[in-house]
Amino acid sequence: LPSGFVSVSRLSLVVVQSAQMQPDTHVYMFVCCVQVQDYLEPFRLSLEKLQEVSARATPDGTGSNWRRHIWGHENFLALDLGGTNFRVLHVRVVEEEQKMLKMDSQICAIPQEMMLGTGEQLFDHIAACLGDFLVSQDLKGHTLPLGFTFSFPCEQKEIDKSILIRWTKGFKCSGVEGEDVVKLLKEAIQRRGDYDIGSVAMVNDTVGTMMSCGYRDQSCEIGMIIGTGTNACYMEEMKNVKRVEGEAGRMCINTEWGGFGDDGSLRDILTEFDVVVDETSINPGVHTFEKMISGMYLGEIVRLVLVRLAKEKLLFKGQTSKDLLTPNTFQTKFISEIEDGLENAQNILTKLGLKWDDVDSRVVRLVCDTISSRSARLCAAALATLANRIRVNRGLDHLKTTVGVDGTVYRKHPNFSKELQATVRLLAPKCDITFLVSEDGSGKGAAMVTAVAQRLALQSRL
Ligand code: BGC
Ligand code: MG
Repeated sequence: LPSGFVSVSRLSLVVVQSAQMQPDTHVYMFVCCVQVQDYLEPFRLSLEKLQEVSARATPDGTGSNWRRHIWGHENFLALDLGGTNFRVLHVRVVEEEQKMLKMDSQICAIPQEMMLGTGEQLFDHIAACLGDFLVSQDLKGHTLPLGFTFSFPCEQKEIDKSILIRWTKGFKCSGVEGEDVVKLLKEAIQRRGDYDIGSVAMVNDTVGTMMSCGYRDQSCEIGMIIGTGTNACYMEEMKNVKRVEGEAGRMCINTEWGGFGDDGSLRDILTEFDVVVDETSINPGVHTFEKMISGMYLGEIVRLVLVRLAKEKLLFKGQTSKDLLTPNTFQTKFISEIEDGLENAQNILTKLGLKWDDVDSRVVRLVCDTISSRSARLCAAALATLANRIRVNRGLDHLKTTVGVDGTVYRKHPNFSKELQATVRLLAPKCDITFLVSEDGSGKGAAMVTAVAQRLALQSRL
C-alpha cells in the first residue's frame, strides 16, 4: 500500500476490516477513500478547534425562577410537546416519603400538515387529545394543575406565561410566535367547553430533565437534551442574572444553545453541507448549532454527503436512487443502525434502492461515524463551557457535578454518549461530570415544577 496510508487512521481501519477482499479492491478502496477523506475532513474538529468553540459559547438566555422539591397536590396533568412525540400524561405522587411518582401517558400523533398549519388547529388538537385522555383516565370533571413541557425557545416572564420566541424542529404554525402559549391552550380548552384545567406551569424539556434527575441525584445542576433538537439549562448564581432582581441563591437558566452560531460565530466550522441543510430548512439562518447536532438534521447531512460522493463517483459506482435524492428520506436512526453493524448498513442501502458493494457500505459507515462524532464533540464543547462556568462561579478549583440527559440521539446511538463524555473530560479537565439519563423528565419534571409553582402561589397568598 502507498506510504502515508497509515496516517489516515479511520480509513486504515476501514481497510483492515476489509482484509479478505481482493488486492485490486484494496487499491480501488484506497483511491476512493483518500478522496472521500477530502469531503469528510471539514467535519473533523480538532481538540483545539473544540476548545475555541467552547470559549465562544457564553450562556445567556431566558430563565424561569423557581426552586426545587416541594409537593403539595398529588395529582397532575402534563403535556409534552416538542420532542419525537406529543404526549399527554397523568402523574401521581404515590408515596411522598419514598418520592414515588406514577405515570400514565398517551402518545398523540401530530400530522405534518398540522405542524405547518395554524396555531388554532394545533391547540384545538392538543385540547382534543387531552380531553380524550381525561375520559380514558376517568378524570373528567376534576380540575387538575397542568405542567406543560413546551420545548421551544420562549420568553418566560412567569410560570404560567410563556411567549414563544420562535418555532424550531419542523414546527411552523401561524399565529403563535410572539403569543402566550398558556393563553392559546386555555382558549382552545374553552372553545370545547367540556372540561377545565387548573393552574398551568410552563417548563422547557431541559428543565424538566434536570428536575427529574435532581430527584435522584442532588448535585444535578445541568439538564441537557440531544434529541430532535438540542439544548441545555444549568443553575446560575442569582447575582449573575441581571434581568432578575435579587442576589441570593441560584436560578435555572435555559441557554437555548441550539441558537449558538446564529450571529456567525461558527462560520469557520460550517461545511457546505451544513449550509444546504440550513438553506432548505423551514427556519433558515437560525438554530445553527442545533442543525449540526440534533436528530432532526443529522440524517439529512449524511444524505447530502452520500449524494455528493455518488455524484463524484466515489460511491455506488456513481449511481444514486430516487430515495437517496429525496430530502429527509435518510432518517437519523439509520445512522445509529449503520454504525451498529455493517449488515444493517447493507440492508438500509438496499432499502433505499441503492446498488452497493462492500467498499460502499464501509464508506457509508465512515460517513455516518464522522457526522455523529462531530455532533457528540460539539455538544461536549458547549457542555464543557457550562460546567466550567459553574465551577468558576463557585470559586472552585475542582467541581463535581451531574448532568441530567435525555433525547433520542443520546439514548439510541451506539457510541454517542461515550464520545461526548470522553471529549468533555478533555475539554473540562477540572470538572468531574456524572451523566444521568433521565426517566421521563418531560413528564415527571413538569409535574415537579407544577408542584413547586403551586406551593409558591399558596405561600404568597398566605
Ligand atoms: C428548542 C429548545 C429545546 C430543544 C430540545 C430546541 O429546538 O429550542 O427549547 O429544549 O430543542 O428539545
Ligand atoms: Mg422529550
